[in-house]
Amino acid sequence: MSETCTISEGSLKAPTRHPVDWRNPDFYDEGKLDAELRRVFDLCHGCRRCFNLCDSFPRLFDMIDATESGELHDVGSDRFKPVVDACTLCDLCFMTKCPYVPPHDFDLDFPHLMLRYRAIEHRKGRTPLAIRELTKTDRNGKLAALAAPVANWASDTGNMLTRPALEAVAGVHRDAHLPRFHSKTFALRAESDGLTPNRKAPAFGRKAVLYATCFVNYNNPSIGTAARAVLAHNGVETEVVYPACCGMPQLEQGDLAAVSDRAAKVAGELAGWIDRGYDVIALVPSCALMLKFEWPLIVPKDAPHRTSVEKLAAHAFDISQYVVDIARNAGLAPGLKPLPGGVTLHLACHARAQNMGPKAAEMLRLIPGVDGKAPDVKVVERCSGHGGSWGIMTENYEVALKIGKPVATQALKQSKAFVASECPLAGAHIAQGMERLGKDAPQPPAEFETLHPIEIFARAYGLAG
Ligand code: SF4
Ligand code: SF4
Repeated sequence: MSETCTISEGSLKAPTRHPVDWRNPDFYDEGKLDAELRRVFDLCHGCRRCFNLCDSFPRLFDMIDATESGELHDVGSDRFKPVVDACTLCDLCFMTKCPYVPPHDFDLDFPHLMLRYRAIEHRKGRTPLAIRELTKTDRNGKLAALAAPVANWASDTGNMLTRPALEAVAGVHRDAHLPRFHSKTFALRAESDGLTPNRKAPAFGRKAVLYATCFVNYNNPSIGTAARAVLAHNGVETEVVYPACCGMPQLEQGDLAAVSDRAAKVAGELAGWIDRGYDVIALVPSCALMLKFEWPLIVPKDAPHRTSVEKLAAHAFDISQYVVDIARNAGLAPGLKPLPGGVTLHLACHARAQNMGPKAAEMLRLIPGVDGKAPDVKVVERCSGHGGSWGIMTENYEVALKIGKPVATQALKQSKAFVASECPLAGAHIAQGMERLGKDAPQPPAEFETLHPIEIFARAYGLAG
């Protein structure tokens, strides 16, 4: 039976999250982990609100339902790993569904329990070598930039020579879209773009550091270029800073010491800019989530870089959030023109997890609609299923497409000129899902493009593309 509930449904207080106690030996005690898994899984079994969020919950519920008793006690703990493996740490169950998160007495944090399981796996050396190597984004990005055409040739999904080999050696599904590389990173481009802030714009005087993020720096510099152009047009002086990746891929693997080390390096450098009056803007929502929420939970209170981490968390913005902040508090520079065709906007899970409201939608709705109509922005609030490095692996790729199918279906039905997601990996994954739906589904408009919302905003200003 599910645990007896002596507590009212949900909590009236604002949700909180406990620090991740990863330096405590108890954190790695497998008996204690198992007891906690059983406690939480039994609560979820009795609740089931999250049945359609991802593949973790269906795997758990199917296992329980297949027992004779229909209860968790008849499921062996050795069968829990697939439940953990299916979690992409999207945080949606914690942020959007669960009434039992702290300070509720049930004290339930499903994603961070999955994280603890992975931390134990990692400590026992069970993280596959291929995943550890594939997610060394700075090393890989620097190497690939030296020979970007070769790297892009090798990673192209149409390459029948290299992709089957990559699948066999590294477990990357041969059909999974992989990000492209550029010989000139975003940080290098910014050094010579000659952009200066518009002195006549209402927001002139603001200063912001763009934390490039590994993805924008190595794989999609045009997101950074668009952000920098929009901000300069609005009077904001920007500097591009990229000390290192935020460590989200290492978080996914449960390597919490590595995450804390990244926080020391990145927060240490960004805190100096904050002291000189700069705001900090992260260009990818997963990285913004790390700066604002995950690092303060992971970096110990007594760590030398704790002060920098707290300072950064208080001054970090998501790019859409920052543009909306300018619009609200200073006013935008004129020049936005309608973009015909409308936008399907996927709200990325890690943007939602920042608890800031649908800022990408608010930003895109600042663009005037065609012929004086309201802006044509249709929002899709479901997980794309990609989950960072998770969705490209052979064992997850089909599941990732299955989870993302409702998003792809809605995007096809809406048939807009732009499909936008703040998460560039999600955007590419949704496009693959749309292609996959086949000829029986509605067809995408011939010219549709997958872009980051800030790229669309820059186009509306006539600044890019
Ligand atoms: S964090 Fe996301 S993927 Fe993980 S269990 Fe919750 S909803 Fe599912
Ligand atoms: S995470 Fe919370 S809302 Fe989701 S199934 Fe479990 S108890 Fe229910």
